[in-house]
This record gives sequence, C-alpha cells and structure tokens, in this order.
Amino acid sequence: MKIAVLSRNKNLYSTKRLVEAAQNRGHEVRVLDVLHCYMNITSKKPEIHLKGEVLEGFDAVIPRIGASVTFYGTAVLRQFEMMGTYPLNESVAISRSRDKLRACQLLSRKGIGLPITGFANKPDDIQDLIKMVGGAPLVIKLLSGTQGIGVVLAETKKAAESVIEAFLGLNASVLVQEFIKEAGGADIRCFVVGERVVAAMKRQGQEGEFRSNIHRGGTAEIVKLTTEERKTALRAANTMGLNVCGVDILRADRGPVVMEVNSSPGLEGIEAATGKDIAGSIIQFIEKNAKQGKTRTKGGQ
Ligand code: ADP
Repeated sequence: MKIAVLSRNKNLYSTKRLVEAAQNRGHEVRVLDVLHCYMNITSKKPEIHLKGEVLEGFDAVIPRIGASVTFYGTAVLRQFEMMGTYPLNESVAISRSRDKLRACQLLSRKGIGLPITGFANKPDDIQDLIKMVGGAPLVIKLLSGTQGIGVVLAETKKAAESVIEAFLGLNASVLVQEFIKEAGGADIRCFVVGERVVAAMKRQGQEGEFRSNIHRGGTAEIVKLTTEERKTALRAANTMGLNVCGVDILRADRGPVVMEVNSSPGLEGIEAATGKDIAGSIIQFIEKNAKQGKTRTKGGQ
C-alpha cells in the first residue's frame, strides 16, 4: 500500500515509528507536512499539491495533527477523504474530539462516566457554576491547554472564584470540573486501535502534584484494566468515531470517568511503558480496513 503520514515533523518519535512499522510490513510511506499542502476544491477532481507536486495514489492517510493545527490539518485530511483515500481517523471525528465541550456533551449523552463538568462564558455566573459542579475543591481547565498547562486545582471556593474570574477576564474559555481526589494524582491512558484496547499505562504525577502528565515529571507503568475500564475506553472511542485514540480515564470511587479522548495519541510513552509494538498494530489495522472510498466525507470522484 501507499500510505501518507500527515505530520509536521518526520523526526518525532511517533511519526518515525509509524514510518518504520509501515516499511517493515512492505508498504511505501511518505511523511507530508500538513501546513505545506495546498488544495483546489472542485466538485469533479479535488487535488492536493505539495511544492508543485500533485499528491495522488495514496491508499491510506494517517493523520498526526497537533492541537495547534487542527483547523488547517483537518481541512487537508478532508481533502484526502474527498479523493477517496482511507483515513485512519476521519476529519469529523478529530474535530469532534478536539472540541472539549462537544466531546463532553457527546460522551454524557451516551451515559459514559465523566467528572461532573460545567462551563460558562461570562463571569457573572461563577458562584452558581461552582455550586453546580459540587463546590471546592475543583479543577479549572483552560480549553486551549495541553500537557497539563492551564489545569489548576482550586482548593477553596474563594480560590476557584478568582481563578475562573481571571481566565474569563482574559477572554479564555474554561471548563470547571469536579476534583477526583481518590485518583491520587494518577490517570490511565488506554490506547485503542479498532475494537481493542491494545495497551494501557498508568501515569502517576510527582509527589504533591495532582497532574500526572509525563511532561510535568510524571512516571508511567503498565497497568491491568478492569473490564469496566476497557469497556468505557472502547465506548468513548466509538462515541467520538475514532479508530485510533488515547482515552484518558480517572479511577473514581464510582467507577472509571473519562477525562479526554486524544485523536493523535503519542506512541513513545505507551510503547516504552508496555514494550508493545503499537505502531505495528496501527499499520495492521490499516491493512485490514483501508479501502478506496471508505470514508464518510465523499468527494467528486
Ligand atoms: P491536558 O489535556 O492538558 O493534559 P488534562 O485535562 O488531561 O489536561 O489534565 C492534566 C492532568 O490533571 C490529568 O492527567 C490528571 O492527572 C489531572 N486531572 C485532570 N482533571 C482532573 C480531575 N477532574 N480530577 C483529578 N485530577 C484531574
């Protein structure tokens, strides 16, 4: 097969591993910098160009689209879909999961466990918002944050009020969430490929840190999931419509709660923690599923 990896940097661990796994299984693979792709939108023959070259003949495309390039990246991916190329994750599914509010609403509609979550746009309603999510302590998250930046634990109602007020005052959108104290500064990353959780790791924050992000000094180890956790991860992936994703779960007293569904989950941490060949599983999934025109976004061909 001829496979494209949409990635901004071919030296990133995940990109390198996907290329290596595809080549090992006898495929032709190319890394394309999504921001350098440009397109013509015609009803008959959608095209994508890169530095004057017409990109064509790809059987499958693996989107590795960072949060900061979601808008343009999903447009390029959509163009591939219109040309009939099979996307590992569809553009609509990526957009759905990147919008944290929309993702929460969809997951809750399916009855999937979530931390009690509220969001507001105007500072006038902060007091009631805090009451709605059960009062302090609570977690306040900047909607645009990643890697734990912009995730704040407010221990008291007063602290929560000031932080929310400050964020909203800066015109930043926030989400306010029940603090799952019993998770003990740990979360579980479930790596989903198709209908299976192929690997899972527990990330533990540094002593005194409630955020478990590896970028913030957290450590990761292999973990055995309960049946309920496995089911929750698969249902969350399914709700988003993602074939491959990382579902982040907190172990709450009332059962697993989903914090986030990540459509471009990194491979480095999970392959290191579990010793599994996740890149290989992804390529095998593509081999089984990639068919010309097997996309929901249709084009003019
Ligand atoms: P990011 O997407 O920036 O990594 P997250 O929402 O995943 O932000 O939060 C970062 C970390 O903070 C999580 O991995 C988790 O350990 C911790 N955390 C986030 N939300 C909660 C919560 N509601 N209760 C307890 N811990 C939380």
